Amino acid sequence: MDPQPEPVSYICGDCGQENTLKPGDVIQCRECGYRILYKKRTRRRIEFCEKVMERI
Ligand SMILES: [Zn+2]
Repeated sequence: MDPQPEPVSYICGDCGQENTLKPGDVIQCRECGYRILYKKRTRRRIEFCEKVMERI
């Protein structure tokens, strides 16, 4: 169990609304109530790692 779970961005499969959910949250769009959400690509983390690597 993580002490500080990172929120993850999901895109609603129906209306396209971005939903930020924490682990354990109900997977449901806050805008329309649709229950199928697609995980957004977490590219930010990878880019951050690459920048750190360049500095070293
Ligand atoms: Zn929706």
